[in-house]
Amino acid sequence: MTGGVNSRPAHRFDVTDEIDVTDCTRCEELCGSRGRIVNGVGPTDAALCFVGEAPGRQEDETGEPFVGRSGDVLDEVLRDQGFARRDVRITNCARCRPPENRDPTAAELESCRPHLEREIAAVDPDVVVALGKVPSEHLLGRSVSVTAEAGSVHDARIADAPRRVLVCVHPAATLYDPSQRETFESALEAAVDLVEGGGDQSRLGEF
Ligand code: URA
Repeated sequence: MTGGVNSRPAHRFDVTDEIDVTDCTRCEELCGSRGRIVNGVGPTDAALCFVGEAPGRQEDETGEPFVGRSGDVLDEVLRDQGFARRDVRITNCARCRPPENRDPTAAELESCRPHLEREIAAVDPDVVVALGKVPSEHLLGRSVSVTAEAGSVHDARIADAPRRVLVCVHPAATLYDPSQRETFESALEAAVDLVEGGGDQSRLGEF
C-alpha cells in the first residue's frame, strides 16, 4: 500500500465477494434492458467512496462505473487533487442500466439499496460523495438542491451506521454547463480535506 490517503488498516479478509452482485432479478425491466450488472470498483478499504446514479451505455458495455465522459471528468479532477482513480471506490445507486438512460425509478433505487448499503458498510469510507441529485436524495432521504448544497457535508445513517455524505454536482453537469466545473472541483477538494489524516500531507508521498 502507498503512503497516500488510502493508507488505512487493511481488511483482514477480501470483502469483494461480499460486495459484488453476480445475479439479481429484483427489477424486471432492468433485468431485460441491462447488458450486465455493473458493480463498484476500487479498493475495498478506500477512504473516499463516490456514488453515482446508474450505469450508462459505456458502463453497461464494459461492466465498470464511470468510464464514459462523466468518468473522464471525475478522473481528471481526482488527478488534480493528487488521486488516481484506483485510489477511490466508485459505485452507483443502481447497478443496472435503465433503458434509454432514464433515471432509475424510486422502486428500482429501493431494490438496489441493499447492494449499495452492503458495499458502503464493507468499505467503511471516511466520506461518501454523492454525485448528483439522485444519489444525494437517495442517501440523505430528502430533496436536495445540488448546486446550492454542493460541497456541504451531512450526517446520514446508512446500513444502520453513521456516515458523512458530501453533496456534489454530477460530473456530467460540468459537460452541459462548464460553469459547474469549479463547483465540482471545490466539492471534491472538500471531500479530500475530510479524509482522516488530512489529504495534503499524505498525498505528498505520492509524488
Ligand atoms: N456513469 C455511471 O456509472 N454513473 C452515473 O451516474 C453516470 C455515468
